[in-house]
Amino acid sequence: MLSIGIVGLPNVGKSTLFNAITKSQVLAANYPFATIDPNVGVVQVKDERLEVLSKIYKSGKIIPTAIEFIDIAGLVKGAASGEGLGNQFLSHIRQVDAIAHVIRCFDDTNITHVEGKIDPIRDLEIIELELRLADLESIDKRLPRLEKLVKTKVKEGMIEQSVLLKVKHMIENDGLVSDLVFDDEELKMVKLMNLLCLKPNLYIANLAESDLVDPTKNAYFNQLKSKAHGVGIDVIPISAQVEYEISNLDGDDQLFFMESYGLKESGLDTVIKKGYELLGLKTYFTCGPMETRAWTFKEGTKAPQAAGIIHTDFERGFIKAETLSYKDLVESGTPQLAKERGKVRLEGKEYIVQDGDIMLFRFNV
Ligand code: GDP
Repeated sequence: MLSIGIVGLPNVGKSTLFNAITKSQVLAANYPFATIDPNVGVVQVKDERLEVLSKIYKSGKIIPTAIEFIDIAGLVKGAASGEGLGNQFLSHIRQVDAIAHVIRCFDDTNITHVEGKIDPIRDLEIIELELRLADLESIDKRLPRLEKLVKTKVKEGMIEQSVLLKVKHMIENDGLVSDLVFDDEELKMVKLMNLLCLKPNLYIANLAESDLVDPTKNAYFNQLKSKAHGVGIDVIPISAQVEYEISNLDGDDQLFFMESYGLKESGLDTVIKKGYELLGLKTYFTCGPMETRAWTFKEGTKAPQAAGIIHTDFERGFIKAETLSYKDLVESGTPQLAKERGKVRLEGKEYIVQDGDIMLFRFNV
């Protein structure tokens, strides 16, 4: 399951946002792989197509795909050198797929700021520095261990060393690690290494409720936006307080409340959507009378590996995948009509699954 780690300095609104997340939690029974941990909140990924599909297939239930948010509390200045909850924080954060920085952009004299005054860029830089220092420390620990492998010309060791040296050099020279260019082999290694500086990032600007209608009226938000723009990162304006209030309401009340702030969707849903984009994630569906279900896969995944997301047996014994696109199904009206029109394809092992595909896997047990 995709996971997004929430980081930020104390008193920026992390817990408020995280409480909104846990209030919106899904039933764990449908998501057996979800981590049961008070610092983890599992929320559903909204997808309008599910409702349409469940009507067409007359499904008994709908199971959306889900995403994990991990509250990475305890990050303070000096975390990398072991202050506060530093080390525990770092082990949590290494496992996430992406990092969402919550940055305080609201003034409130009643709520003190750990650094004295509100300054989103400085806050971000404190957190980013901690992440860089933590990487530097783990790189320095790892490099000597690779020497033996490099001496005996073990390929993986050599690739890893090359990546680590590049990252180390960049960090030590205050450069942007995200600007580094890696070849294909190095990129594979990067994915295995869990370096914090190489994880995709999102910035969440926590605004005052009154600024939600037009965030560009908030000077802090604009500062953040121009910094983020320079490094190609998205800034999502939210109000943690409003998110929390939304999470306490149901259905129509929620919509009514959001409308009063001029919101089309909750900030949380925007974060999820952006997280999907950031990580190149797509959705395919399995549909039948029992259930209509969404599954998340990485762009470029081939049919057998997509099947493996449901069960490893599906991948091992993969034969073919009956595939129908959402668009073709909706245009045809029913699966039967789609079949008659030749829209149901029988795809093999090399098929690259597309967003919105409705899949039925054939496999040997
Ligand atoms: P954390 O230390 O980052 O987890 O911060 P908290 O979520 O505990 O928030 C710190 C304080 O800021 C609390 O008193 C919150 O009620 C308040 N707060 C959080 N989000 C907002 C917001 O969007 N607007 C305002 N006015 N206050 C907020």
